[in-house]
Amino acid sequence: MRMSGTSTFQWSFLAAAALMVIVIGLASDPVVSISVADDGNAGRRASARAARQLGDRPKYIIPPPLKDLGRNYKVRVVYFVPTDKEVKNAYAEKIEVLMRVVADIYRRDLKANRQRSRGLDFEFDEEGELQVHLINGDHPSVFYTGEPFSVDRLLDSTQNEVLQKLGDPTGRACLIFSEAGGIAEARPAYPYCGFAMVSGDMLRDEITATTIEEQIENFFDVTPVGEGDDAQPRNKEIQVSNGVLIHELGHIFYMLHDTSDVNRNIMAQGYHNLGKMFDHRTASKRLVRFSPHHARVAAATRFLSESFDERDGQNPALEFTVVRPPPGGQHFVELNLKMSDNAGLHAVICMQRGGGGIDALVGGAALKGKSYEKTVKFRSPHVFLEGQPLQYIINCIDVNGNCSQAAQISHVGPPER
Ligand SMILES: [Zn+2]
Repeated sequence: MRMSGTSTFQWSFLAAAALMVIVIGLASDPVVSISVADDGNAGRRASARAARQLGDRPKYIIPPPLKDLGRNYKVRVVYFVPTDKEVKNAYAEKIEVLMRVVADIYRRDLKANRQRSRGLDFEFDEEGELQVHLINGDHPSVFYTGEPFSVDRLLDSTQNEVLQKLGDPTGRACLIFSEAGGIAEARPAYPYCGFAMVSGDMLRDEITATTIEEQIENFFDVTPVGEGDDAQPRNKEIQVSNGVLIHELGHIFYMLHDTSDVNRNIMAQGYHNLGKMFDHRTASKRLVRFSPHHARVAAATRFLSESFDERDGQNPALEFTVVRPPPGGQHFVELNLKMSDNAGLHAVICMQRGGGGIDALVGGAALKGKSYEKTVKFRSPHVFLEGQPLQYIINCIDVNGNCSQAAQISHVGPPER
């Protein structure tokens, strides 16, 4: 779940002068009503209505089939199998089932967050089926994982071989199911690509079905699966594995970690009620969600945005400083932010690492205009303790889906007298 960085750091200095009023952090989101074409939802509602009229309301919400949205920016799905591992039975059907779950959550959540998006697009084959690239690796698992296991080595070695074999076209976010070892990692990359990798173990029969109907039913099945002490109720395992997929892809769309609303926030591992998103009685409670700040950034990426100028490939200029080490014993830190963009700024998010032990989204805002300079006060979810190391990471995205990231190290200073 850690985010590894192949990020472009932007340090150029800006003499941005225009000040705008934005509210960082605790502000509620502006209420904007945008209607989005969503055949999936409409179709689902129509069939639910028809079934109700027949007195036979469908028990569960079934994510609609994937369809080609015609985007130039798509998720590429790879199944990577080292020489010492077996290709799992019905892998393509299972991956399609998983992607229907993932795509449905993204589409519904962005809509609930009032973002205009038809959702994720994928690569499809000539028959119109989801394309799953099976790659038989050249080496045994240990070549990829290293010994001892190294996450970076696994990402690097797999990524290299995938790029070698499939090429590296622009506009492909790559999701790899790897049989090499247990992993759930993402490498956001700039621009318009990135890798996420999850374990091929997710494709075992007990937790991933070959039909969407069966998968959704299994979200409610508590039969223990797995061996001995590791046995877990099936629905628990499925909610975690499917939630991890949504989470890791989220990093590719420049979302960071989040500790607000930990029981419901996908970017905080709050996906333990994922099944309830497919139950008519509980779906509207949105027990699994993205925070509004994250949804705003994700929806602006070219994988989800409905309007951007493809000719603009320039990242926003972004720099910030921690005004002074935040004093121990309180919650607040001040950052001086300077951002500008040739076409227009769209949104910013800020994550704090350390200062309480875990990553936390501490703020975010919608932006307007071409430049922004302001000292903003962020609230840490934890009280700072003197001497704690801190890191701040900021993602800033422009109106055309170009994102910059900058990071700063700081530490907690002595308490104020
Ligand atoms: Zn993560």
